[in-house]
Amino acid sequence: MGRIAPRDDVALMEGYHSPQVEVDVRLNTNESPASPPAAWQAALAEEVGRIEWHRYPDRDARQLRERIAALHGVGPESVFAANGSNEVLQTLCLTYGGHGRVAAVFEPTYALHSHIARLSGTAVAVGARTDDFALDLDEMRRVLGHHQPAITFLCSPNNPTGLAESEATVREVLSAAPGLVVVDEAYGQFAPWSALELVDEDVPLVVTRTYSKTWSMAAARLGYLVGPGWVVEELDKVVLPYHLDSLKQAAGRLALEFTEHMEARVAELVEERGRMIAALSDLPVDVWPSAANFVLFRPRSVDGDDVWQRLLEHSVLVRNCASWPRLEGCLRVTIGTRTEDDRFLAALTEVLS
Ligand code: PMP
Repeated sequence: MGRIAPRDDVALMEGYHSPQVEVDVRLNTNESPASPPAAWQAALAEEVGRIEWHRYPDRDARQLRERIAALHGVGPESVFAANGSNEVLQTLCLTYGGHGRVAAVFEPTYALHSHIARLSGTAVAVGARTDDFALDLDEMRRVLGHHQPAITFLCSPNNPTGLAESEATVREVLSAAPGLVVVDEAYGQFAPWSALELVDEDVPLVVTRTYSKTWSMAAARLGYLVGPGWVVEELDKVVLPYHLDSLKQAAGRLALEFTEHMEARVAELVEERGRMIAALSDLPVDVWPSAANFVLFRPRSVDGDDVWQRLLEHSVLVRNCASWPRLEGCLRVTIGTRTEDDRFLAALTEVLS
């Protein structure tokens, strides 16, 4: 029997690849270098004993939503949670995108915004950022005016460039957008300002967040958005029933009892980011400022692919962005522990010498 062809558009697509290889120093996917607190693990272990495994989980994830809502000073009807913020983005695309609709992105930015949009049958309109990767407001108005997107994606701080959007920029996008504006704040806690401030029942804005970075819980696959109740109502219709299992709901709820630990980890990483940028600035590389837990850099005289490969030979894994649009020769390094970062800096110094 021959193979069965997938959908035409899927047949033409490439998957999303981020190599998972065994290395000593893993600085390629912007995870937290620290585990969640031991007290959280103990609380979760206790909770496991109380789960009714023969029953479906709470379909509305009510307690989790209430806790997230309290964290952000909104009502639970303004919160939608899913399996990682990627599933939040997918549910948004399935609900507001689809055939005959357009999503706008501004490159370079997080590759999954356009990938998920396309998978959901949504056409993608691509605008260009300025040479220093800021959002070009004239270009933004041109793309939104011409394509009338149902969804406009921003990413703040932007992955992989590290730049955070200002409040003025987000307000400009909101006033120009004919549809929903999605601000992806996967790295929001590392930035000085959050678009969460602008969320309101009368504003077509949603802000997505994740447990994967600042909460040290990438293994749990949990993310959420805060937005108007009328958006959450529609998303609830689209997402699969019982999509959040009981263990995950408990893990996410209990994590929020350790907010101070999370904030301390974020503060440490922000300080370490300063040290990393200063050290990179002493090497023959171009470095971009960052409001996130990673830094984009470009070796000046050695090919980015070569540097990536040679770092790997030193058992240091960073993200290779060298072939991404507008990022020729660039690499992205996650802020790790001081020891991991020192290993990376020593390896990079050797590779570039
Ligand atoms: N948004 C951005 C900008 C990201 O960088 C990531 C993770 N790489 C995600 C969303 C997805 O995170 P998760 O699905 O783990 O919540």
